[in-house]
Amino acid sequence: MARLVIRNVVVLVVPEVGECRVEEARDIHVQDDRIVAVTPTGSQPGSQLDGRPGGDEPEVVDGSGLLAVPGLVNSHTHSPMVMMRGAAEDLAIEDWFNRRVWPMEVNLTPERVRVGARLACAEMLLGGVTTFVDHYFHADQIAAAAVETGIRADLAPTYFSSTEQDLIAAFDVTRELRELHPRITASLGPHATYTVSDDDLRRTAEIARAEGFRVHLHAAETDGQTQASIDKHGVTPVQVLERTGVLDAGALIAHGCGIREPDLAILERYADRTAVASCPKVYLKLAMGEVTPIKGLLKAGVKVGVGTDGAAVHNTLDVWEAIRMVALTQKQRENDAEWMTLSDTLRLATRGSAAAAGLSRQVGVLEPGYQADIALVDLSAPHNQPLHDPRAAFVYSVRAADVVTVLVAGTVVVRDRELTTMDLQEVLADAQSLAHTLVDLSAGGSIQHYNP
Ligand SMILES: [Zn+2]
Repeated sequence: MARLVIRNVVVLVVPEVGECRVEEARDIHVQDDRIVAVTPTGSQPGSQLDGRPGGDEPEVVDGSGLLAVPGLVNSHTHSPMVMMRGAAEDLAIEDWFNRRVWPMEVNLTPERVRVGARLACAEMLLGGVTTFVDHYFHADQIAAAAVETGIRADLAPTYFSSTEQDLIAAFDVTRELRELHPRITASLGPHATYTVSDDDLRRTAEIARAEGFRVHLHAAETDGQTQASIDKHGVTPVQVLERTGVLDAGALIAHGCGIREPDLAILERYADRTAVASCPKVYLKLAMGEVTPIKGLLKAGVKVGVGTDGAAVHNTLDVWEAIRMVALTQKQRENDAEWMTLSDTLRLATRGSAAAAGLSRQVGVLEPGYQADIALVDLSAPHNQPLHDPRAAFVYSVRAADVVTVLVAGTVVVRDRELTTMDLQEVLADAQSLAHTLVDLSAGGSIQHYNP
C-alpha cells in the first residue's frame, strides 16, 4: 500500500450548498489512489489507514504556504487541437469550421493526434488539470497519451453520420477504451445534432442505454442553430435529443448557448443524468451572441461544468481562464454582480465539472473516499498578494503557472512545476515538427460542412 501525506496545507472546502471556505494547517492523507483523511496538521488520521503499526513511513509532500484544491476538470475539449493553436483566428463560426478547421482535419493521422494529445496532457497537468473530458477522432491515441502522462480522461470517439463502417468503428473503440485503464472512462461521441441524423442518434441512445454509456455531444451551440433546427425540423436541438432518446440515456451537452426557456422544462425531466459544459471564451471569441444559460440550468437541477473546448479556438487548455470567464460572462448575462459568487463559481468548477465528467462520486472534492486528484497552488506571486481571500484568488487571479505540484490518483505527476511522467522538451519538439503538416490546406477537401 502506497501512502503519502501532504503536510501543512491550506485546503479548499466546497460543500454541496452554501459558502465555500478554506481550512488552514491541514494534512491530507493519501493511500494508494484515494484520500483517506484530512486532519489538523501533525495529528494521526486514526483507523482509516491500514492500521499496520510500524508500517512504512509515508512519502511526505510539504504543503507549507500552498493552497490544496481539487484537481481541475476540463469538462469539454478536443485535446489534440492544440496542434492548431493560433491557426484559425478572427473568423465567424461558419468560416472557422468551413474554411479552417474541417479542411485541416483532412490531415488527421493517428501519429498527429497522439503528438497533439501528449502536448495537451502536458499543458493541462502543469496547469493543475487532472481530468479532461474529450471528444475527438483517433481517441485510442488520446487514451495512450493519457495513460502515459498520468492524467485522468473521459474519451468520446467522435463520429458524424457517414458510413456504417465509421459508426461501428467508433462504437467499438468506445467499448475498448472503457476496459483500457482505471483512469480512463468512455462516452459515445456523436458530433452534434446537426451533423448526426436522428436515426444515428437513436441508435447511439440505444447502445448507451443497453451498455451503460453516456452520450457527449454538441447541441444548441448558438441560438442561430436552435432557430435553424426549428425552421428545418420544427423542433429545437434539445427536443431532438429528447425524441431520439439521448436525454433518456444521459448526456453531456457541450455549450447549450441556444437552449431556450421551454427547453429547460424538458431538461429538468432528465436532470439526474444531464450535464452541460460551458466554455465561454469561445462564445466571446466567435461572437456567438449568447453564453450558456447557467442560471436556468442550475434551477432546473442540471449540472454545469467548465471547459475550454479545443485550443483551435480557445488557444489554451487553461481551465483557470475558463473558470474566470464563466464568472464574468454570467454576471454580465444576468446583469447581476451578486450572481455567480465566488462560492457558486467554485462549486461549478469542482463538483459541477466532476459531474460533467461522469465522475461526481470519484473526483471534485478533497474528502475521504474520493480519488487523490489534487493541485497545490502557490499564492505568493505579486498578482495574488496581499491575499485577503484565497477563494477570490482561485476565481480571479490565479494563473496556471502558480500550480506547483499535482497528484492524480495518488501519484505525483507534477513536482515543483515539472512533469514527472514525460520529457517536456521532447513533447514540444515532436509537436513543433509535425504541427505544420496538420494545418496545411494544400490537399483540399474537408471532413464536413457547417450548415446547421
Ligand atoms: Zn467542442
